[in-house]
Amino acid sequence: MEKPVFTGNFTQQEPIPEAAIAAALDVMRSGRLHRYNLLPGDEGEVAALEREFAAFTGARFALAVASGGYAMSCAMRAIGVQAGDKILSNGWTLAPVPGAIASLGAIPVFVETTQDLTIDLDDLAHKARESGARVLLLSHMRGHICDMDRLMTIARAHDLQVIEDCAHTMGAAWRGVASGRHGVVGCYSTQTYKHINSGEGGLIVSDDPEIMARAVVLSGSYMLYGKHTAAPPVEMFENVKYETPNISGRMDHLRAAILRPQLAALPQQVARWNALYRMLEAGLRNIAGLRVIERPPQESIVGSSFQFLLPDWSADRMRALLAACAARGVELKWFGAAEPVAFTSRYDSWRYAPPQRLPRTDAILAGLIDMRLPLTFSEADVRMIAEIIRDEVVGASTQAAE
Ligand SMILES: *Cc1c(COP(=O)(O)O)cnc(C)c1O
Repeated sequence: MEKPVFTGNFTQQEPIPEAAIAAALDVMRSGRLHRYNLLPGDEGEVAALEREFAAFTGARFALAVASGGYAMSCAMRAIGVQAGDKILSNGWTLAPVPGAIASLGAIPVFVETTQDLTIDLDDLAHKARESGARVLLLSHMRGHICDMDRLMTIARAHDLQVIEDCAHTMGAAWRGVASGRHGVVGCYSTQTYKHINSGEGGLIVSDDPEIMARAVVLSGSYMLYGKHTAAPPVEMFENVKYETPNISGRMDHLRAAILRPQLAALPQQVARWNALYRMLEAGLRNIAGLRVIERPPQESIVGSSFQFLLPDWSADRMRALLAACAARGVELKWFGAAEPVAFTSRYDSWRYAPPQRLPRTDAILAGLIDMRLPLTFSEADVRMIAEIIRDEVVGASTQAAE
């Protein structure tokens, strides 16, 4: 019998909603694309997005910027990180995270990863003590949220300020508190592959007026910070405005116009993502040798991607599985490859950072498979993907046993 082949596209997003297209056309017809180019009395799309995003996350303040990577470097500058400072961060994350640290001339100190794909809190406490670092750039990589209660206890004990990288957790929560609202600053991305799509873009939230005033000036507000509607009161800028450099990285009205209708629809999109995620999870349960990542009950997830582990598989077996799945149209990513490929790279290829050894992370990544779950997939698509993976994993195991 012919083996079924999946013909869907793992990188195909949904179209931008019609309401967002209409709003974008209005911005273009106005000619006023710069966020501070406003008619008297206008709030403007960017300030409106900030106001709505602050409400969405429950933060006092929000700021829209040029990218998620910019959001993280801006947040670190705003809390006072200096060149040469050590910054704790996840050993398993995406390259813009250590890149943001390096952009300040700061030094990443990588923390181990658990089998649940979250930061290893014992190693975090150990490295906080050992390194003397005062900042943790915590990446909720692929949407996996660690025990935030315990993490914040460790942070308080070691006097660590926590900045959250929520590129994969916009719309997610831990015990009902939005991701990005546990630390002092939360950073988000609106890049095409994240949860709302403006091509490129980022958002920052915080309750701290001084940090946020600095972030606003850093983002390139000039002396126009009074035009923000989700920023601290203008008095907060009195000293900040002289001491803070303009490191231009604003968002424009066009992107904000595209994002606002998507933000309003995000809760429905999250429900759709999670339906696909739970279906895939069910389809991949009870396969010998394949470990599904159990999501804790405290975590409200956004299932925009899916990961599973094949513990103890050799590199050759992993490569054979990837090739067999790819031949049947199922595009899997593997974090165990020796060389960085496409978006996927590993801490040992970020060689601007001092060399570090993370043996537990290495062991996890050697068996870690990752895939995107775009909303253009139907439930039938997801059932077929699960079936193909099951077939190929079981097939590979049967061969290995022979
Ligand atoms: C995409 C991503 C970022 C950075 O977002 P950009 O908007 O692309 O700069 C940060 N962290 C993680 C984990 C990401 O996946």
